[in-house]
Amino acid sequence: MPAPALPRRVVVKLGTGVLTRGIGELNTERVAALAADLADLRAAGSEVIVVSSGAVGLGMGRLGLKKKPAEVSRKQACAAIGQSLLMQTWQRAFDPQGLAVAQVLLTHEDLRSRARHLGVKACLEELIRYGVVPVINENDTVNAAEIKFGDNDTLSALVAGLVDADQLVILSTAPGLIDLKGSGLILPVVEKITAEIEAMAGGTTDVTATGGMISKITAAKIALRSGCGVFIASGAEPSILARLFRGDNPGTYFVPAGAPLESRKRWIAHYQRPTGHILINACAVPVLRDQGRSLLAVGVTGVRGRFNAGEIVNIIGPDDVLVARGESAFSDAEVAQISGLPSEQVRPLFPARKRLEVVHRDNLVVL
Ligand code: GLU
Repeated sequence: MPAPALPRRVVVKLGTGVLTRGIGELNTERVAALAADLADLRAAGSEVIVVSSGAVGLGMGRLGLKKKPAEVSRKQACAAIGQSLLMQTWQRAFDPQGLAVAQVLLTHEDLRSRARHLGVKACLEELIRYGVVPVINENDTVNAAEIKFGDNDTLSALVAGLVDADQLVILSTAPGLIDLKGSGLILPVVEKITAEIEAMAGGTTDVTATGGMISKITAAKIALRSGCGVFIASGAEPSILARLFRGDNPGTYFVPAGAPLESRKRWIAHYQRPTGHILINACAVPVLRDQGRSLLAVGVTGVRGRFNAGEIVNIIGPDDVLVARGESAFSDAEVAQISGLPSEQVRPLFPARKRLEVVHRDNLVVL
C-alpha cells in the first residue's frame, strides 16, 4: 500500500488492553514507548491528540477487582480512581520527551450542544498551539447513560471530526480487520465500508475492553465522512505509529472517499441523538437522498416524539429506515398540522414565515 502522507493532525486512540497487562496493571514500558513514538510524530511536524482509555481498568486494578463491575456507580468510582493514575502515567511517559499533557474529559453533551461543541474545539486548538498533548477520555465519573458516548472508539472519531484531523489511529489489542470471507488474514485496505465488511466485525470478550471491532467500524464510518483516514492496528506492535506512516502497515487502513461533510453538517449527522422523528413517504426518499433537496410538508406523513422548531430530528422513511437527520424548522405539533400538505396550503397557516421547508437542505444530512 502506498504510505499515507504524514498526518497534519492525527488523533491516536489507545485502548485499555494496550496500556495495561493483566487486569489494571500498567504496562509502563509500552506507555513510555508510545509516548516516544508520539513525540517523534510531533517532531516530524504532525499535531497529535491522544484519546486514552484505561481509567476504569486502572481503577479496577487499584481496587483489586477481577471483573468490570456491573453497577454504574462502581464503574464511576473505578474511573474516578483510575483517571488520575492514567494522567500521572501519561505525564511521566512524556516527561523525557519534554512535553506536557493536558487532561480533557468529555461527555456526549459537551459535543452535542453546538455552543459547547465549539467551545471544546477552541480549547483543543489552544492546547495544540501551546504545544502540549491533549489526552482525552470520556468523563466516566458522571456517565449517566444518556450522556455517554459508550466507547472511546466513537469518542475518538468524534474528536477527529471536531478538530479536522486528517488521520485517526485506533490502537487496541486487535491487529486489524480480519478478512473472514477470503484470506483469513488482516485486510490491509478498505476502500468502502460495505455490509460485508461490517459482518466481519464481532464484539469484544475482554474483561476491561469496551468496544470491540464493531465499535471501531462505527467509529471509522464517522471519521471517514469527516474526510479523515482511519488505521486500526495493534498497539502491541513496536514502533507502530512510525510504521503506519511509512506505509509498512500491519493493520487495516480505511481510505476516506468523497467530499467531507462540512463542520456544521458533521455536527448534525454524528453528534446528536435525536428523540424526535419526522416520517416521510416513499416519494420523498429519493428527493432527499439522490437529489439533495429540502424536505417539504407534502412528503411528510407524520411525526414521532416531541421536538421544538430548531431541534435536530431523524427523518424516517417507509419501513422505519433512517434516511437523514436535520434541523426541523417546525415543532412536532406544527409538522403534524402541515404533514402531507402542498406548500400553497401551508402558506396561509404560517403567513409570517419566509421559508416553508420543513427541513431545509442546508440543515439536512443524508445518512
Ligand atoms: N472511558 C473508559 C476508560 O477510560 C474506556 C472506554 C473505552 O475504552 O471504550 O476506562
